[in-house]
Amino acid sequence: MSSTNTNTEEKKDDKILINKEEFDRIRNARGAEVCPYCLSTNFVKRGTRQNVGQVVQLYLCKNIGLPDGKGCGRTFSAQDIKGKHFPLHIIIEAMSYYNIGLNLIDTCNVIKQKFGVAPEPATLSDWINEYKSLCRYERLRPYAIKMFGPKETIEVTTMAHRQLYRFRYHKAKTILMLEEYKNRVHFPLKEYLDNVSSETPHQYFQDGERM
Ligand SMILES: [Zn+2]
Repeated sequence: MSSTNTNTEEKKDDKILINKEEFDRIRNARGAEVCPYCLSTNFVKRGTRQNVGQVVQLYLCKNIGLPDGKGCGRTFSAQDIKGKHFPLHIIIEAMSYYNIGLNLIDTCNVIKQKFGVAPEPATLSDWINEYKSLCRYERLRPYAIKMFGPKETIEVTTMAHRQLYRFRYHKAKTILMLEEYKNRVHFPLKEYLDNVSSETPHQYFQDGERM
């Protein structure tokens, strides 16, 4: 996700001039333990970055064993990891499971099953707090979990159109939107979405051109 930053970080790196004392202080500071993107411990020190008021040790991930056959190759700092020994996609997945109504402990169990690693419930709670200004569903979740269980909050249907298409529809958000805005124009929309799973024929797009 931040691979586009790598080049600029390395460019900035060229311009930084620091004295040896400062350099040693950074080198000897408590460093990174895992790559925050892939959790690999196979990384090397690679330059520094000047942040406001401080110089930050950068690391380059040397993990070449990712499932897609590619290497990770990303640059990160120990600060990127502080309090988050997890790659961003796990943080996002964990917050998503929590949002559909699982509690903190159950969410961590699901993440553990899915990825083999999981945060402590307290860490997940910290993430939710940290990102709630970005993830505004935090405001709706208390109401949503009274309406639907974790498995019913989002309706998922896979349709066999020319290619498999996964239709997903957030039932709780739709109802809350209708309640909040009292906009009757939206009611037919809800009806339409409710009917997609049960009434859309799978063969619909198989023959002829789509109109
Ligand atoms: Zn990595």
